[in-house]
Amino acid sequence: MRYDAEELKKLALREGFTAAGELNLKAVVFMPEVRDMCRADKCSAYGRNWRCPPACGSIEEATERAKKYSFGMLVQTVGKMEDDFDFETIEETSKKHAASFISMMRILKGKYDDILAMGAGTCARCKQCTYPDAPCRFPEDSYSSMEAYGLWVSRVCELSSLPYNYGKQTIAFTSCYLLK
Ligand code: SF4
Repeated sequence: MRYDAEELKKLALREGFTAAGELNLKAVVFMPEVRDMCRADKCSAYGRNWRCPPACGSIEEATERAKKYSFGMLVQTVGKMEDDFDFETIEETSKKHAASFISMMRILKGKYDDILAMGAGTCARCKQCTYPDAPCRFPEDSYSSMEAYGLWVSRVCELSSLPYNYGKQTIAFTSCYLLK
C-alpha cells in the first residue's frame, strides 16, 4: 500500500502534534541495550505494566512484528519551558502528546487494517495497571513506548531527519506509527 506522508503529516498537526515526518524504516532497529535501560527501572514501570518489558514481548518478537510494516510516521510534541525546572510544562506537554497520540492511533486503526503504534512513556490509561493479576483493561487502546520495544529514539529521529532535541529549555516527546 502507498501512503501520502504529507497527508499524514497534516493529520498529525490537526491532532495537535507540533511536528511530524516520515520515519526512516532503516532506523527501526530494536536494541537490547535500550531494553537494558528499561531494566534499570528509572521510571518505576519495569515489570509493573502490561505495555512495558518484560510483558510487552521480546526484542525478537518486536523485530519479527515490525517486518510486516512498509511505512512509518514520527510524531512529536514540543513544549517551551520557563526554566530547567519547569516540571509543570513537562507534565502538560507529556499529557498533550499522549492525548494526540491516542486520538491519531484511533483514526489510523479505523482507516488501516493493522498498525503498530509506539508511544512515549509507559501506558498510563488506568490509575493502576492490572499487571500481572488480571488482563489489560483496554488492549485495543493501550500501547508500548518506542523505548519499551527497544528503539533508540534519538537515533530514529536523526535517521529520519527530524530533530530529537529542539534546543535549550524545550521538552520534546516523540512517538511513531508503523503502517502495513
Ligand atoms: S490500559 Fe490499563 S491495564 Fe492496560 S496496560 Fe494500560 S494501564 Fe495497564
